Amino acid sequence: MSQARLASCIPLPLEHKLLVTVIEKAKDWALMHGVGMRDKKHFTKDSIQIAPFVLLPSPFPRTEFDKAIELQPVLNELMHKVAHDDEFLEHTLQNALQVDEFTANLYDIWIKVRQEGITQPITLGMLRSDIMLESRCPHTVNQCAKHTPYCSWKQVEINSIASGFGHLGPISRDIQSYILRQLGHGDLIKNMPENHALSGLCSGITEAYDLFGVPTAVVLFVVEEVSYNICDQRFHEFEISEKRPDIQIYRKTLNEIYEETTLNDKKQLIFDGRPVAVVYYRSGYEPAQYPSTREWDARLRVERSTAIKCPSIHYQLAGTKKVQQTLAAPGVLEKFMGSSEATKKVRDIFTGLYSLDFDESGERAVDMALAEAERFVLKPQREGGGNNLYGAEVREALLRMRHSRERAAYILMERILPPLVSGYVVRPGAPVPPPVSDLVSELGIFGVIIGTKDKIHCNRQVGHMLRTKLADANEGGVAAGLGALDSPYML
Ligand code: ADP
Ligand code: MG
Ligand code: MG
Repeated sequence: MSQARLASCIPLPLEHKLLVTVIEKAKDWALMHGVGMRDKKHFTKDSIQIAPFVLLPSPFPRTEFDKAIELQPVLNELMHKVAHDDEFLEHTLQNALQVDEFTANLYDIWIKVRQEGITQPITLGMLRSDIMLESRCPHTVNQCAKHTPYCSWKQVEINSIASGFGHLGPISRDIQSYILRQLGHGDLIKNMPENHALSGLCSGITEAYDLFGVPTAVVLFVVEEVSYNICDQRFHEFEISEKRPDIQIYRKTLNEIYEETTLNDKKQLIFDGRPVAVVYYRSGYEPAQYPSTREWDARLRVERSTAIKCPSIHYQLAGTKKVQQTLAAPGVLEKFMGSSEATKKVRDIFTGLYSLDFDESGERAVDMALAEAERFVLKPQREGGGNNLYGAEVREALLRMRHSRERAAYILMERILPPLVSGYVVRPGAPVPPPVSDLVSELGIFGVIIGTKDKIHCNRQVGHMLRTKLADANEGGVAAGLGALDSPYML
């Protein structure tokens, strides 16, 4: 079956001279408005280069976009409940923990803080649910009035730590609006939904700060040793400093937190003589970010403290692939959400997700994947892109792990096949103009939820981001260099 295709918002190709001129302007617009990243090859803190972006917004059906927006608070609440269900997390992660040291280290911290007693019952969730349109209509003609090749979408994953692009999401709409105006198509901008992700996400941090309730307190952003995605992170800081000049923000690595913070007798995390109200992690989601025991000790210290964490360790555990797979198993959603209409809606966004545990159902999943490896993605308990296996690699890995408990650290997921769209990807250092390429997109919907186990203070959808990659690339992380910034154009 050939992959379905959506029409681009204006006919392509564009005339050569016009294209070259508009790209030149757009690159300068990008640099001057923070559509940027640090250069990985020639890193310096003195310059920013453009982040790759798609010249024109990519089509996305409005009904499906609206559905995703509406469902976000339901997903937020589900994650909140999962994160607070100790028994469920224990049971779900037990096999993976045996073979995955990183998840086991996170888990150990969780056990320690639970044993000591939770000092801060409030958690701050800044989530991002990532979805792709599914070009194969899953319904029969009778069931589906539309029966279009994009009448449904599936969730790729939900992120509970370092959910980025609060700035790069909205600014992508702005740069593409500028480009549309330059091309004489300013009238199309009305079809690009507004996006207030940056202020929405930052409101999560400031509301958590106010709940902490200590006027002298500060906020810590936990950052990598080297931040390539600096624009996205800094704009969060700039936004908060503009709206709330009373709030001091510091960017600190886990190693600096180890050296520069202490816990006082009230279990407050103290930095520079002041209590820390909120710790917002933009690092700490992958093993390389914990090169020594100091980083793990720093993480434990933060978790022990009264600071409101985004995320708390149990929220990070709730965001693992293993949890996502378990939620899709029969009866599990019902346990958290009852048998409601909302439960049905959430079930509908799950694609096939299979455990590879060392048991009968795991055996069946292995057999199924070996028979048709192309249909699946094999995922370890990792974040940040570039960790999954596809196609022939799935078969290879499963043959290697078939008789090893190691496979419990992975889940098997049905591959989503999004529709294609033609477009231009502008990349730093690449020849101008770029060719017209076949692209596919992944939409991320942001959610903010603040609460304790029993009381939710706020729960809302706060904006979106769109990432687009070449149709034949397996993954599309922008920071990883494969994806490009984009924004949705409503069909
Ligand atoms: P990570 O937490 O590392 O971002 P993801 O589950 O989001 O892991 O996978 C990374 C990328 O791989 C996604 O952004 C998407 O491009 C691709 N991908 C993941 N799962 C699927 C799937 N089921 N079908 C198609 N592509 C997928
Ligand atoms: Mg992720
Ligand atoms: Mg992802």
